Amino acid sequence: MTRNRLRSTPVPGTRDDYTGIDFNLGFHVRAYHLDLSYRVGPNRLDGTATLRLDNWTPLTTMTLDLSPSLRVSRVSAQGSAGVDVQVARFRQSGGKLRLTFAREVPVDTEFTLSIRYGGTPRPVRTPWGNLGWEELENGALVASQPNGAPSWFPCDDTPDEKAHYEIIVTADNPYVVAVNGTLLSKKPAGSRTTWHYRVGNPMATYLATVQIGDYLPLLLSAEGDAVPVRAWVPPALRDSAREEFADQARMLALYTELFGPYPFNSYSVVVTEDDLEIPLEAQGLSIFGANHIRGDHAWERLIAHELSHQWFGNSLGLAQWNDIWLNEGFACYAEWLWFEHSAGRPAAESARHHYDELLSKPQDLLLSDPGTRDMFDDRVYKRGALTVHALRVLLGDDAFFRMLRRYVAAGRHSVVEPVDLKREVLAEARAVGVPESAVESLWQAWLHREALPEFPCAP
Ligand SMILES: [Zn+2]
Repeated sequence: MTRNRLRSTPVPGTRDDYTGIDFNLGFHVRAYHLDLSYRVGPNRLDGTATLRLDNWTPLTTMTLDLSPSLRVSRVSAQGSAGVDVQVARFRQSGGKLRLTFAREVPVDTEFTLSIRYGGTPRPVRTPWGNLGWEELENGALVASQPNGAPSWFPCDDTPDEKAHYEIIVTADNPYVVAVNGTLLSKKPAGSRTTWHYRVGNPMATYLATVQIGDYLPLLLSAEGDAVPVRAWVPPALRDSAREEFADQARMLALYTELFGPYPFNSYSVVVTEDDLEIPLEAQGLSIFGANHIRGDHAWERLIAHELSHQWFGNSLGLAQWNDIWLNEGFACYAEWLWFEHSAGRPAAESARHHYDELLSKPQDLLLSDPGTRDMFDDRVYKRGALTVHALRVLLGDDAFFRMLRRYVAAGRHSVVEPVDLKREVLAEARAVGVPESAVESLWQAWLHREALPEFPCAP
């Protein structure tokens, strides 16, 4: 068990500027064990969350994030190494579960909290719309980015607090329950089935997901491929899903070559019966709506985009939301790389096209800190990808992809900040004789100024 904070520089203050939600300070959650029961018809979720924690300050109280749609009925604690940890009382207010301990928990105590809760799960209202657990026509989905996780379990909902997970969901037959990680067992009992998953690598709360529906399994990889690629699709969409995801395993092979080994054990896509506004990534899994799977490859770029988040966003997580371009800039650039390799369309051509589009839009956001309103603005995605392209042009292809693989390897299963990328860029620049000042001016111009820099062209 690591005792270090995942990120290198703690976010100052006591509140997340992007979500507007107070941090839960003083402890780390090392592991979540969620044992849940879900009834599709009445949309009823009940369960017990057991959290394994340790604290970096003495605690007399602590908070976790939990939606008021879910009510806690019981909380108990268990200390380890002879430390007696007892919860004297708990209450829920302002989207928080607030605990008071019977006596102070000394610093560096390992303890577990067992939280019994239930209710009608609903998405939580956020500045980016309703996020989290959502009832479907015939099932449920979870899409939490950035702060919807408290819609289904009590958690420390901040992207840098990665933890291990065990997720057990019991649902009515014949529903399929798809969750992150590896399916350890599937046990039918009467009219219900219990699905037990384990997530072997640390995961951010927003990337935890449960997908429940009337789904058929499809194998998208070939027998013997190192990374199995699967799909869960509504029966009526089986043929169009086969068509849409025909290149999914080839995409995974390309990204493995360009970015380094695929970070997880497997990759799955879930296609919901309902239409979804946008596809979304979770850890080891991506979610698409029926509208994205018409069999005409209209959304091929997003099939590539979501897969690339397994490296950029999921394995290499964010320390704080203002660095969202590290997720979306790389994922958008990964789209261009896919078409460069699969269709012979150079990334420089995609870059030029999107650069010209950006020129026609307001130049009033900082890529390094776009703010709550513009966090998911398309300009963040495209300017982020153009920044990646500018680095490639500056270093040259060989040095750029060497740098990229080193950056990805160094940040694997952890969190990264722009400074981690810059360190690798500077090291590679030195190795190939690119002046440090050229890296500095690129960095300033693309990340820290609003005006669009000149289009990056090879000399
Ligand atoms: Zn994305």
